[in-house]
Amino acid sequence: MSSEASHGGRGPDGILFNGIDSSLGKGASWRAVERRVLLSKLQDLERRARRLEYLETRLRDLSHEVQLLNRLGEVTHAIHNASDLPRLFNAVLQHALDILRADCGSVLLYESESDELVIAKACGPNHVPPEGTRVPASQGVAGHVVRHRQAVHVADIAKDGRFPVRDSGRYATGSFLSVPVQENGTFLGVLSVADRRDRSPFTTHDLRLAVAIARELAVAVGRIRQFESAQDFQRQFVSKLAHELRNPLDGALRFINLTLADHHPEERRRRYLMASKQGLERLTGIVNSLTGLSRSIRAADEEVQVNDLLRQAIVLQEGKAEQRGIGVEPDLEDGLPPVQGGAGLFQVFTNLVSNAYDAMEAGGGTLRVSSRREGDAIVVQVSDTGCGMDPEAMARLFVPFFTTKPPGKGMGLGLGVCREILGRLHGRIEAASTPGKGTTFTVTVPCVPAQEAVRL
Ligand code: ADP
Ligand code: MG
Repeated sequence: MSSEASHGGRGPDGILFNGIDSSLGKGASWRAVERRVLLSKLQDLERRARRLEYLETRLRDLSHEVQLLNRLGEVTHAIHNASDLPRLFNAVLQHALDILRADCGSVLLYESESDELVIAKACGPNHVPPEGTRVPASQGVAGHVVRHRQAVHVADIAKDGRFPVRDSGRYATGSFLSVPVQENGTFLGVLSVADRRDRSPFTTHDLRLAVAIARELAVAVGRIRQFESAQDFQRQFVSKLAHELRNPLDGALRFINLTLADHHPEERRRRYLMASKQGLERLTGIVNSLTGLSRSIRAADEEVQVNDLLRQAIVLQEGKAEQRGIGVEPDLEDGLPPVQGGAGLFQVFTNLVSNAYDAMEAGGGTLRVSSRREGDAIVVQVSDTGCGMDPEAMARLFVPFFTTKPPGKGMGLGLGVCREILGRLHGRIEAASTPGKGTTFTVTVPCVPAQEAVRL
């Protein structure tokens, strides 16, 4: 014991102390102080140990997360390397099962027309339904995801209460994840996994991973579908174009040959020449449309305000509306964010307005043009009260050169090109029609993301 401590001063930890009760005796009071100091040291050590433990757990979590991020990177790579949908579904499911350490899984695609889910790929140790199997989208957990467009995490179905307990014998546990596959507000289907290999329930962390995989899947499905539809369009387009060019060309040649055979009377030769002139004019029309078409498909993606384009498309064809006594009712939402696609979108809206006026050729009727924001997209509707379309016409609507208009009026290239333009802009076009009543075209285009809009 130091002389300084016995007269009041510093304790063993260097803390100053004074005024020790002299009745306790100096030895006892010193031990009490020592105990207190040691206790506080112990507490401090315990606190540090707890903190270290916490840091160690966080570090383990973080290294786990880094590993998972690496794995997710691999999935993204595999997903974006898949060149067709079957390969894509296979790659996604294998990786999803691997990352989530699960035995069973499926990718289901949603078909809105029939409100059904179609199995694109399913895996599991027991019997799995074959690809192409259809199930009503109103049923079960996947049906719940279709209706609510939200992920479902079930730790134990027996305790969950939201869904009937499955007794198919296909699953070993009652825990599963089912997440929506959706992009830009377009719902594509459902990704589900069940039965963790260690038979423990899925965690919320697993759920986050499944959601991330489903997001990548949605982007890849959109890309492959767009690519396939562009290829289809090209194939159809080239074969139809050859056909469209050959007919007037053959006709013009035949009539020129007839004219050259000089034994025909003058008046008949004149008729032949007129017929070949018509054929050549049709060829010029086709070539002109092709020029416009390639310009609009290659148009630069400058940012535009949808409402400006809609107003311009209406003004451009005002004459037609007046001539036919058609009422125009715009209903354009204020303050819409910009979209990408300038000249291409203008071509889309012009064609829709022009088709609507043609459908109301008999005179009278109303053209309604509306725009509104829905989530991250802008939805435009062009409706008419015209002749409408039967299911046959609806089925061929986007096929190049499909037209019901007389020669010289319609080329049948408008809607196919609209779909091409919108596909390139990650948008879409849909039609609904009732024969004799009218038609509504709905165009959806993604908004320019906020940070980009600010940056530009
Ligand atoms: P085009 O206008 O040159 O005929 P489109 O591709 O624009 O080519 O349209 C293809 C066909 O789709 C039209 O000929 C018509 O039969 C049908 N159609 C398009 N829009 C409408 C509409 N609003 N109402 C009725 N039929 C339509
Ligand atoms: Mg048209």
